[in-house]
Amino acid sequence: MSLFDLTGKTALVTGASGGIGQAIAIGLAEAGANVIGVASSNCDATVAAIEAAGGKAKQIKADLSDESKLEAVAAEAISLFGAVDILVNNAGTIRRTPAADHAREDWHAVIDLNLNSVFFLSQLIGRHMIERGSGKIINIASMLSFQGGINVPGYTASKHGVAGLTKAFANEWAGKGVQVNAIAPGYIETNNTAPIISDEKRYNSILERIPAGRWGVTQDLKGPAVFLASSASDYLSGHVLCVDGGWMAR
Ligand code: NAP
Repeated sequence: MSLFDLTGKTALVTGASGGIGQAIAIGLAEAGANVIGVASSNCDATVAAIEAAGGKAKQIKADLSDESKLEAVAAEAISLFGAVDILVNNAGTIRRTPAADHAREDWHAVIDLNLNSVFFLSQLIGRHMIERGSGKIINIASMLSFQGGINVPGYTASKHGVAGLTKAFANEWAGKGVQVNAIAPGYIETNNTAPIISDEKRYNSILERIPAGRWGVTQDLKGPAVFLASSASDYLSGHVLCVDGGWMAR
């Protein structure tokens, strides 16, 4: 299992206060990585869970939708454990209103966090990885990197952009020892999907289309994240891995 061992590696996980980011942070720590969580609130619970299991974790509090803060976040992250080997661009938000009524603020809020922060943070941490000749970047995409969705045009645009950036960065950096890939989660039970979960009709109509016969839970993302963060995936580049219970295959 040494192919999946992350001992001695440091992972920077954005949006690690809860949901998918928290599960990925804990999963990477279970595989041996030191973890730095970022959120606009705090990652206290994530840090506590990792430390309780004997791991090492630190956190940075920052609003990643504010582009002017990203340089300081990257510098602090690199200084906390001396390097960043793994970057998980997970922080994300969603605004649900029909395209015709989609407010400018909603569009910008989603693009700023879901797309702009992914580009600029990847650039900042990627330069550091290129200098060191190795690194792993994992972007969190979505089913809406492939499909249009309903009432979420900004989110769909951002997640199509994340899939595109994954391939664009991968093409330039695969030869420099930095693998850039993405995970596209299917429907996972988190705060992000709470409004759909509480709509029984919508919840069940989605459930009916999932071949696995259940919605995903955040734990389902741990294994794929460890794989893409580890040397087991050294020859994977520019791939968008659907972790969706078979949704896209249907
Ligand atoms: P979530 O539970 O709402 O988690 C979102 C995370 O992003 C939180 O840790 C949140 O922390 C952080 N965040 C939000 N705004 C931020 C900001 N301005 N600056 C820094 N951090 C910020 O949602 P989730 O479902 O786990 O989503 C995680 C990622 O998975 C997102 O990119 C989402 O688009 C993607 N995804 C989710 C699903 C799903 O079914 N749930 C499916 C496909 C893709 P704070 O609020 O504390 O800042």
